[in-house]
Amino acid sequence: MCAIVGVYGAEDAAKIAYYALFAMQHRGQESTGISSADGKRIHLIKKRGLVTDVFDEETFKLLKGPCAIGHNRYSTAGDDSILDAQPVFAKYKLGEMSVAHNGNLINKNEVREQLIDKGAIFQTGMDTENIIHLVAKSQEEKLEARIKDMLTKIEGAYCLAIQSRKKMFVIRDRFGIRPLSLGKLKNGGWIVASETCAFDLVGAEFVRDIEPGEMLTFEEGKEPYSEQIFEPDYHPCAFEYIYFARPDSIIDGKNVYNTRLEMGRQLAKETPADIDLVLPVPDSGVAAARGFAEGLGVPFEMGIVRNHYVGRTFIEPTQEIRELKVKLKLSPIKELIAGKRVAIVDDSLVRGTTSKQIVKMLKEAGAKEVHMRIAAPEIKFPCRYGIDTPTKMELISTTNTPEEIAQKMNAESLGFLSIEGLKSSLGSDRTYSLVSFDGNYFAGGNANSPGCSDC
Ligand code: AMP
Repeated sequence: MCAIVGVYGAEDAAKIAYYALFAMQHRGQESTGISSADGKRIHLIKKRGLVTDVFDEETFKLLKGPCAIGHNRYSTAGDDSILDAQPVFAKYKLGEMSVAHNGNLINKNEVREQLIDKGAIFQTGMDTENIIHLVAKSQEEKLEARIKDMLTKIEGAYCLAIQSRKKMFVIRDRFGIRPLSLGKLKNGGWIVASETCAFDLVGAEFVRDIEPGEMLTFEEGKEPYSEQIFEPDYHPCAFEYIYFARPDSIIDGKNVYNTRLEMGRQLAKETPADIDLVLPVPDSGVAAARGFAEGLGVPFEMGIVRNHYVGRTFIEPTQEIRELKVKLKLSPIKELIAGKRVAIVDDSLVRGTTSKQIVKMLKEAGAKEVHMRIAAPEIKFPCRYGIDTPTKMELISTTNTPEEIAQKMNAESLGFLSIEGLKSSLGSDRTYSLVSFDGNYFAGGNANSPGCSDC
């Protein structure tokens, strides 16, 4: 999860990075940071909190220079240290550097142990610190060569923005697991961001996606220089389309909203239900629920109201708080629901907490029948490439059949999208990362590799 941005060759680089991070707030709400480079120094501000809490006019007086990189951090329970905020800054032999990272390195522990054996000291548990150490310890002369050296030692999912006092380097891992796109700024300069919704806000023109295994170098007075560092083995993450990315973003040429709509239509073909009304779980299930309703020819209503001032339920550590938070967040419109047979559509089922609460809520609101539909396949494996899913045992679909889950939820029925149905909604032009559903850890690691608390 998390969002990164890099801006190069722009007058207000830090402000542009700020707006881009604001547009990508959904990718991480725990902490945010921007570092800027003015040719002589790197300046850094990072803090816990939302983008609008951390930055103001004063902060931009400090964040000078034509290059800025930024980061929004998503984290799971426990990792709330300010030290874990990014970008990560360091002074080293060649001067200063700053790194923003989205993704998850699956060989973090091995690399860290080797570095510690050689005397390295760490301040955080973040895999991003490994990257800084590997660059600093490389025996290559130039930063660019040191970065390439570092890239041969890390494995897993990463999108990186690395800044020196004068240059910026942007890298996407060879699997292209997490999204990263290049845009051109109207008044000159370049922007790289995890999602294209950031370009829309700052008025940048989408140029292209960064290729898997590509490194782009930005240098004063030159066009960005592209180098293919690794042979691509493209596996974009299906979960970005299912849940994580903003519906207005375009990932790999596909609009996220339209893809979700298609997943809903497909779900209607695979698991129809005899119902009067389709409701989405807001906001994550809206597009899929529309597609589901369209597929069945049944009315669609926004029958559950969401309170937008409550954080994502996932962030809370204990089960009791998670359950209370669902109620704080969602509330049914009884007048629409009472006496009806309803289908409720969500994008995914992880622990089952949200769905269980929602079924209860809908029955209390007078629903005659509640049919739960999930616009994704059963999640049976923890993702180790940057999507925050819990351990295998906490995933409800690992130990329960759909019928058993429906019974536990007190729902009349429960239906999932099949893996084949998901693939057909995404299109056959790519091999997607479906690790949460099929357990194919193609980029290395396994169910026990380091989790997303590190991303
Ligand atoms: P659960 O209640 O544990 O079954 O989680 C499912 C809900 O969490 C759905 O409404 C999803 O939109 C949302 N969700 C799915 N994956 C994630 C994730 N990685 N982080 C946060 N929320 C998620």
